[in-house]
Amino acid sequence: MSIAQNISEIKSKIDINKVKLVAVTKNHSVPAMVEAIAAGITAVGENRVQEMMAKHPEIQAAGKLVEWHLIGHLQTNKVRQAVPLADLIHSVDSEHLAVEIDKTAGKCNKRQDILLQVNVADEDSKFGVELGQALPLAKQISQLAHIRLCGLMTIAPYADDPETLRPVFRELHTLFGELKALNLANTDIKWLSMGMTNDYQVAVEEGANLVRIGTGIFGSRKY
Ligand SMILES: *Cc1c(COP(=O)(O)O)cnc(C)c1O
Repeated sequence: MSIAQNISEIKSKIDINKVKLVAVTKNHSVPAMVEAIAAGITAVGENRVQEMMAKHPEIQAAGKLVEWHLIGHLQTNKVRQAVPLADLIHSVDSEHLAVEIDKTAGKCNKRQDILLQVNVADEDSKFGVELGQALPLAKQISQLAHIRLCGLMTIAPYADDPETLRPVFRELHTLFGELKALNLANTDIKWLSMGMTNDYQVAVEEGANLVRIGTGIFGSRKY
């Protein structure tokens, strides 16, 4: 199937008025991205700052306007490069990183939208703050005036049967409600980023309103 057909297939499975579809473009070419944007994609997700920096000017040169989402782990030494380009950073998981983002955003005269990445399943292999530490971290981050905390993100464990991940998504949705109810300063809690190619339908059923899909749009990645 073509990229456009894949996109319309995904759009037929989610309510596109309520769920934002971010096309995960890591390891995919600029022409493939341009094709996706022509087929209606309005937001792209990259997981490496370097790759985002390389593609950003090319997409602009092609005359394409999209939101850029940084979805991969962010090292503090890459913050200076990431902040000017990223519309939303999904992967904030420490106060230290948030402070760096805040400093850089201040210098750029920008309010940086971010999400907290939560390691719901508590996997050793995953970045993200532990479930129990997420609200305390949100409170610390809400002190930072150049950051706007917009919600939560998780990467679920891999599972052959996505149905088994339902409790993971449900837990993050509950935490999302608790975070909203805190009404913290410098926040606008509106995005619950969960769901990838294998599990997005379950994630959306459990309250996701932003899904990050790569393989389902572009096919498998060549590394
Ligand atoms: C690669 C990646 C995705 C997309 O994964 P697919 O299975 O290809 O849809 C989503 N989120 C993050 C954080 C990723 O790194």
